[in-house]
Amino acid sequence: MAVNYADFHDIDIEEYDALVVGAGFAGSVVARELAERANKRVLIIEKRAQIAGNMYDEEDEAGVLVHRFGPHIFHTNDKRAFDYVLRFTDWIDYQHEVLSNWYGTYMPVPFNKNSMEIAFGEEKAAKLIQKLIDTFGDERKVTITELRAQDDPELSEIADFVYKNVFLYYTQKQWGLTPEEVDPSVTARVPVFISRDNRYFQDAYQGMPKEGYTVLFENMLSHENITVCLNTEAESVFDLVFESLDEDAPLTAIKVKDQVFEGDIIYTGALDELFLTRFGRLPYRTLEFKYETYDQEFWQPCGTVNYTVTEDYTRITEFKYLSGQKLPKTTIMKEYSHAYEHPGEQIPYYAIINEENQAHYERYKAMAAKLPNFHLLGRLAEYKYYNMDVIIGRALELADKLCEK
Ligand code: FAD
Ligand code: UDP
Repeated sequence: MAVNYADFHDIDIEEYDALVVGAGFAGSVVARELAERANKRVLIIEKRAQIAGNMYDEEDEAGVLVHRFGPHIFHTNDKRAFDYVLRFTDWIDYQHEVLSNWYGTYMPVPFNKNSMEIAFGEEKAAKLIQKLIDTFGDERKVTITELRAQDDPELSEIADFVYKNVFLYYTQKQWGLTPEEVDPSVTARVPVFISRDNRYFQDAYQGMPKEGYTVLFENMLSHENITVCLNTEAESVFDLVFESLDEDAPLTAIKVKDQVFEGDIIYTGALDELFLTRFGRLPYRTLEFKYETYDQEFWQPCGTVNYTVTEDYTRITEFKYLSGQKLPKTTIMKEYSHAYEHPGEQIPYYAIINEENQAHYERYKAMAAKLPNFHLLGRLAEYKYYNMDVIIGRALELADKLCEK
């Protein structure tokens, strides 16, 4: 069976028990679960011209499977999330490795024992590695914030080096902020690793969907109870009903095609957009991607190279490492990060996590809290820095709750 696509104008809303906004992992997993486990008829509206959210991939002219909304590598310790994605497509084993391009020399990221030898030379590195082991233990991960807080000249030397050569410029490019100015949880994603393990992630389950994420989504959404309307934006089809005319008045109902929709509504888009940014826009970082195809088998030594001290792009991903394809040509993608300022043209990719933005988000969230059939789920709707596996886990939990009702 194929995905059941329809034009929103042709939809009879009375035929649906649940409405999902967004066809990324958040929306698609809940839709599949409600359709399959609870036999609900689910309508998905998606504003883009295709399903799969930020995971969308397709073959380019050279036949390389490229990701159109940022490079996505699946990794998790959550067995339920991994088993879930295994259901919908075959997977290949893939252990992602990242190198930093340090003035033309490659150094593993996360910064580890091997990086230390490249940075300090073998002899000095041996002493420094011993100091790290004595302080934190072998095979341990230490965040840059924790390392910089140490009161020891040798540890400070490592911390200074890593701060200046791995974090400072990359973080400034990615966030427009210094590492001290971003939430510590952000840089903690890439700790110093006292190990020889060069992999970017150490999770128990890692891999890539053999035919790509889009095929995975097509299989997940191919269900007789699911209908997908592309090019359909929630704001243009929802008629929001509020308790009063007060600016902060809570939402009391959502009308679709002139009727109050009584079934569950799962909203996975940006929350400020739903409320037409009445309290101002939530801050995000957006990305710009530039692709280059080369007439050679490979262009760089591994899947991703981070430019931590030079260039105006943050990183280059070479997709053939991720897809495992054997082709005579190769395609790379450079990522440039910018402030999210032009909503019509740009995509909000990264919530900027800090207290002020959280309070701003909470003001929007409070407006939606009183409507019992309205559920916020996903990286955008929850204004969080979530990986795919976390979203899948949260979507399964929400589906459990809704299926029990
Ligand atoms: P999305 O995938 O963003 O899906 C939301 C969907 O809702 C979109 O299709 C959007 O068009 C639609 N939508 C939004 N608003 C509306 C509206 N008003 N009306 C209709 N439709 C709407 N995670 C990993 O685990 N590994 C990685 O390697 C990884 N790499 C990443 C790289 C980048 C550059 C980025 C930005 C993220 C990466 N992630 C990665 C995180 C991953 O993208 C998210 O966890 C995942 O996309 C979350 O799924 P979602 O459904 O919440 O959001
Ligand atoms: N980071 C860095 N240098 C690196 C890799 C990461 O400074 O070489 C910092 C940077 O602030 C980045 C954060 O760590 O935004 C998280 O990195 P990650 O690779 O997890 O980012 P994502 O893949 O989500 O963009």
